[in-house]
Amino acid sequence: MKLGAKISVSMVVLAIVATLIVAYVAGIAIRRSFDFYVDRNLAYRMDRIGVALAEYYLEEGGWAGVQTVFDGFQLKGAGYGYYGGQGIPGPRAGRRAMGAEMMMGPGSGDVFLLDDNGIVVAPSDAALLGRSVPDSSIGQSALIEANGVTVGKLIIVNPQKGIWEKEFVSSLNNAILWAAVIAAIIALILGMLVSRHLTRPLAMLTTAASRLARREFGCRVPVVTGDEIGELAKSFNFMADNIEKNERLRRNLIADIAHELRTPLSILRGNLELLQEGIIKPSPEITISLHDEVVRVSRLVNELQDLSLADAGELRLARRSVSADELVEKASLLFSSEAKQKNVNFLIDVQSGMPEVYSDPDRIGQVMLNFLKNALFYTESGGTVKLSAFIKDDEVIFSVQDTGIGMAPEEMAHIFERFYRSEQSRHRAGGGAGLGLAISKGIVEAHDGKIWAESKVNEGSKFSFSVPVSKR
Ligand code: ADP
Repeated sequence: MKLGAKISVSMVVLAIVATLIVAYVAGIAIRRSFDFYVDRNLAYRMDRIGVALAEYYLEEGGWAGVQTVFDGFQLKGAGYGYYGGQGIPGPRAGRRAMGAEMMMGPGSGDVFLLDDNGIVVAPSDAALLGRSVPDSSIGQSALIEANGVTVGKLIIVNPQKGIWEKEFVSSLNNAILWAAVIAAIIALILGMLVSRHLTRPLAMLTTAASRLARREFGCRVPVVTGDEIGELAKSFNFMADNIEKNERLRRNLIADIAHELRTPLSILRGNLELLQEGIIKPSPEITISLHDEVVRVSRLVNELQDLSLADAGELRLARRSVSADELVEKASLLFSSEAKQKNVNFLIDVQSGMPEVYSDPDRIGQVMLNFLKNALFYTESGGTVKLSAFIKDDEVIFSVQDTGIGMAPEEMAHIFERFYRSEQSRHRAGGGAGLGLAISKGIVEAHDGKIWAESKVNEGSKFSFSVPVSKR
């Protein structure tokens, strides 16, 4: 069943069920008030008739001849209901006229006037004259008092309210039926409108999703509502943005890898061809140069592997508690001779009493060395590179500061992207493929740390990262 049909059907069912519940509850309440209303009217009428009968008793000095007066009240069937002051004959009177229940004594709706001995002096039915009425069959009664003495009793046997009530309830039921039909029609129309309103954006989303699956990465859906469907549309667009961005990155990545491999491979190929053709002779220089190119290719392959592991969140870290001093010491040991060779001052500034950090020492060492090598690469001889470490809250912050060429803000925005290299760096011989900082970022984030850079053109740069302190 389609969503639209489901909504319409549920609304119709809901409308019908709601109408029936209201009808049931209202029916009970109406029936109760109806009974109360009829009883009260009957009691009121009996009181008034009682007063008239008392006056008759006083005038006549007894009940003789009261039947004519009694008939004048037209009381037969008074229990069937009372509207506007007239007793209304009910079907009971008709049945009695046929003589069907002549022998059965007083029946529902019969009205009697009893004297003070409880003998019937005026019945609504002549056959019952002179008989006594069993208490059990008395429905409603009113005492008739003349000068403070009880002289008789007006009674009505089991007043029936059923007929009027039935008529009332049946007209009520009719009204309810109509209400249910009208409510169901309105619910159907509303259901159709609501479902169209709901399903149209969903249909657009379905179309967009299948276009996206067909690699139409530019497709988006309009966000027209602020409800959950609007949220869904927003999420879809966000997802499509990401897919498009990732697709672009993937294409660039392949192009960048091809580009980075092309240079060392063409140098290797060119030199090997020259060697084969005997144009150049094998020499230690040529072997070193070929080896350098092979090292460059293997470094690139290793970096790509690291990057793909970091991207997939699968960098296998052998984390343990390591002294921060030890990390700094190890990196500086590997780096100081390189700095000396380039005649760059290398300073170390470590806060005393450093705690242990929870990290993989090899990977953190890799990040530090990447920072230090970059710093050295972009700093002229005579400049300074400083490695520092200090504690901040529950983290240790490691920084490498240089007095090198620095970076413009627009370059800073991209330095942690894979294969990004500034124009300046491209002009310098010996730079990497632009993967070092992207890998460093992956490693630091895998350690739940942060990585950032500050820089000023021609003044120098400062690269930092944080690692959480070990919890004891
Ligand atoms: P690579 O692996 O080529 O060194 P990185 O990812 O480490 O690439 O660095 C990316 C870019 O960041 C470099 O090409 C350079 O433009 C910039 N960069 C990194 N470190 C520094 C620094 N200390 N001073 C100036 N620029 C830097």
